[in-house]
Amino acid sequence: MTEPTVRVRFAPSPTGPLHIGGVRTALYNYLFARQHGGQLILRIEDTDSSRFVPGAEEYIIESFRWLGIHFDEGVGIGGDYGPYRQSERRDIYRRYVDQLLNEDKAYIAFDTPEELEAKRGEVKNFQYDASTRGQMRNSLTLPADEVKRLIDAGTQYVVRFKVEPGEDVHVDDLIRGDVKINSSILDDKVLYKSADDLPTYHLANIVDDHLMHVTHVIRGEEWLPSAPLHVLLYRALGWADTMPRFAHLPLLLKPDGKGKLSKRDGDRLGFPVFPLEWHDPKSGDISTGYRESGYLPEAVINFLALLGWNPGTDQEILSMDELIRLFDIGHCSKAGAKFDYVKGMWFNREYILKTDDATLAPAFDKILRQNGITAPMERVTAVVGMMKMKKINFIHELWPLCDFFFIAPGTYSMDDKFTRKNWKETTGAEMSQLASLLEGLDDFSAEAQKAAVDPWAEQTGIKPWNAWRVCLVGTGKGPDMYELAAFLGKEETLNRMHRAIEALK
Ligand code: GLU
Repeated sequence: MTEPTVRVRFAPSPTGPLHIGGVRTALYNYLFARQHGGQLILRIEDTDSSRFVPGAEEYIIESFRWLGIHFDEGVGIGGDYGPYRQSERRDIYRRYVDQLLNEDKAYIAFDTPEELEAKRGEVKNFQYDASTRGQMRNSLTLPADEVKRLIDAGTQYVVRFKVEPGEDVHVDDLIRGDVKINSSILDDKVLYKSADDLPTYHLANIVDDHLMHVTHVIRGEEWLPSAPLHVLLYRALGWADTMPRFAHLPLLLKPDGKGKLSKRDGDRLGFPVFPLEWHDPKSGDISTGYRESGYLPEAVINFLALLGWNPGTDQEILSMDELIRLFDIGHCSKAGAKFDYVKGMWFNREYILKTDDATLAPAFDKILRQNGITAPMERVTAVVGMMKMKKINFIHELWPLCDFFFIAPGTYSMDDKFTRKNWKETTGAEMSQLASLLEGLDDFSAEAQKAAVDPWAEQTGIKPWNAWRVCLVGTGKGPDMYELAAFLGKEETLNRMHRAIEALK
């Protein structure tokens, strides 16, 4: 028998912005699909209408577009197994709800929220299961004609899964091995609610994985407790033979201490937990995203890929292609992965160094515009090239390091420590000499300046560079002087020199 084509899915619920942990889950699915020549599906699980948040679906799609995680099928793309939005698949689910009811594997329950609440007050650790369902108002306890009468009268009901107690249920997990749970601890989960004529997550998820020929379910550890129920559901629906393999990924943990990573940690320590900025439609709150904070998508991918998996070597910088080649779902860790956001910044720095100047330039251009500077893109690109090795984590950190490329120093003053140290009695005269020398150059390239200035400095014993820097920058920062002067051009260079000489007299 040949193995079926690998098909995996990322199945978010549009209940708000995508959490960074969800991005990691999608990434692992993507890597797994690509390395097996398989398909990745984007399915929107929107059966819980009470938690639906407008804009969340668009946000999810835009996040993956930015990150370079491509889906082969799904919402926004299409495919042979659609629709891919669960709210558009009501009729499909209804068929399987009926099948389970007809086969006595599920039952109808009329208990109101108030009745359930009362029961919980009465019975400690109440669970709706084999030991209690006989005391409740459902199709197992009520006469058939009463059930029919209630339904005909429009009484709201739910359909519950009839879990048989006392059986060891095995979940075969690619990361965790054989996970065994006794069915007695499971409750009779609600599979369908008449109130909105929609299934719950559990049923819709299983039906869709089956109908969409999903071969592997790769998802966060928080879904592991649902997995035994899912195994039972596959069996009840007669699909045990084609049940997908499971892989429950390790949790992302707080950077500093135990427990699950939360948005609060990001707010407290100052890092984003969402891929893109999110505007909450209800509260109006704005949460920052990786994109808006100045991360390169490649850096985010590389950082997330190593939260829960590593290639087994010291190599940390891995391109998407390398990740696809090396990723190994079976070697993901079981233990949670600390969300080391400082490491994330390090990755961004490394990717800034790796990325070509022209690609980085638009981000810096945006920062320049915010500071009232418009410059041709070649000049923006040139500055990025001269400055990016200055150990910056983000492109926006460039501005205070290199504003002088675009704005002449406002004042020259002995109050500046670097100026005080490098501007001596004789410096004004020396700078005048240098200015005349530069004045005579037709070619003002860095190389041509060097060819003229180096021998002059050698001959006269004058070391002009620090004082020259004072003239052009006003303080002790910036790149190589020849490169800087070449960038400013002859006229601007000489203007700044003359002004400094005057001011520091
Ligand atoms: N809709 C679930 C979620 O929001 C999907 C979980 C799963 O992958 O089965 O994550």
